[in-house]
Amino acid sequence: MAEKHFKYVILGGGVAAGYAAREFVKLGLNPGELAIISKESVAPYERPALSKAYLFPQGAARLPGFHVCVGSGGERLLPEWYAEKGIELILGTEIVKADLASKTLTSAADVIIKYDILIIATGSTVIRLSDFGVQGADANNIFYLREIDDADKLVAAIHAKKDGKAVIVGGGYIGLELGAALKLNNLDVTMVYPEPWCMPRLFTAGIAAFYEGYYANKGIKIIKGTVAVGFDSDTNGDVTAVKLKDGRVLEADIVVVGVGGRPLITLFKGQVEEEKGGIKTDGFFKTSIPDIYAVGDVATFPLKLFNEQRRVEHVDHARKSAEQAVKAIKAAEEGKPIEEYDYLPYFYSRSFDLSWQFYGDNVGDTILFGDNDPTSAKPKFGTYWIKEGKVVGVFLESGSPEENKLIAKVAKLQPPVQDPEQLEKEGLAFAACVIIKLDDSKESYFIVCL
Ligand SMILES: Cc1cc2nc3c(=O)[nH]c(=O)nc-3n(C[C@H](O)[C@H](O)[C@H](O)COP(=O)(O)OP(=O)(O)OC[C@H]3O[C@@H](n4cnc5c(N)ncnc54)[C@H](O)[C@@H]3O)c2cc1C
Repeated sequence: MAEKHFKYVILGGGVAAGYAAREFVKLGLNPGELAIISKESVAPYERPALSKAYLFPQGAARLPGFHVCVGSGGERLLPEWYAEKGIELILGTEIVKADLASKTLTSAADVIIKYDILIIATGSTVIRLSDFGVQGADANNIFYLREIDDADKLVAAIHAKKDGKAVIVGGGYIGLELGAALKLNNLDVTMVYPEPWCMPRLFTAGIAAFYEGYYANKGIKIIKGTVAVGFDSDTNGDVTAVKLKDGRVLEADIVVVGVGGRPLITLFKGQVEEEKGGIKTDGFFKTSIPDIYAVGDVATFPLKLFNEQRRVEHVDHARKSAEQAVKAIKAAEEGKPIEEYDYLPYFYSRSFDLSWQFYGDNVGDTILFGDNDPTSAKPKFGTYWIKEGKVVGVFLESGSPEENKLIAKVAKLQPPVQDPEQLEKEGLAFAACVIIKLDDSKESYFIVCL
């Protein structure tokens, strides 16, 4: 049995792994100290590209174009970079056993990898319809999207089924981005989801009405309030139709399912404390077991701003939690203190010519502002979430980079709202007012509009 030992091991080779590697190098790493183990056969890349530019009919993104850390405007870490820094990329390798007590990982090919410090960065996996026993759900051309291999299979099907019919099951961000991508590829797209509107975990009815209208104008059919209960396939096993609970049957050459994910933590079950479906960490991403850290999608960490433990499945947190864990590891070695993680939740999505950003928390009352008419030439609108008289979250569609920075500051600052009607009228100007005053006086601020 082959055996290797490293000072630091990152288990998982996704977004968090790449950003952690960069942080190790920044803070001082000797050749041979760090290994990244990944089931995928490519070096860490910016996963969000898979549901966006990777699927463009023309000028599609391909590796090495979107290796980390280009997604946040940083240097692109090519496989050579890892080699130069003496970081071992152990790719195409699935870890099937983790024994945290003996600090030992075992791969599917029986390679043993030992570590002094482990960072768990295994991310999430998709929920499959076959997990619920949906009839026919293992037919060919029913796709899920998590890893680059999944995206390659989908691209091949898009080419094979030119101008065919596509059904998207699920109305979350994967469903919305995939619906747009398949439409751009000239497929006849129908989206199906059970909720009364798309992205219900974040969108209000007002926000969703815009996207549903916009998608309808692009020729995408949307069926709400029902679910896929079965699939028909031909003698080759290729899917031909999606059967809905309400009795309708939709012809389909391609089906994409985006019904959610779950964090990959089964390897560590019973060995480490869990909370809210993830691995419980402190504000330095340390788990309940010494020398074991957990970052990205798998970590349930203290979200200081809202005073609660949260798990966040978004790329910005994957990057920042990875950097925080490495800072904490290096600081502990040097006996220095560092600040606890103080995260402002940030999500974004892009489809067609649209692009939205959200900062903060989507709880409390909401105020929609701006032009959310999907037929407008340049729609631009947003929403404030107000809880206990303070703005706690802000959403903005089609904001400029400066405007997006403003809404981030507002969500962090949580200014009081005196008059919700006034806020609706002011819209984005409210954000500008607050920031201008904040820059004058960092201690206190007033809502004064110019
Ligand atoms: C298609 C898609 C689009 C997205 N778009 C957006 C977006 O627009 N905005 C946004 O904020 N977020 C988006 N996300 C979410 C974001 O990409 C994730 O939150 C982020 O990638 C999490 O980083 P991570 O490092 O924790 O996990 P991942 O990036 O998923 O990496 C986990 C890695 O661990 C490997 N692994 C897992 N188990 C094992 C094992 N046992 N052995 C070896 N390797 C293992 C996996 O193969 C993978 O390489 C998107 C996600 C997907 C799938």
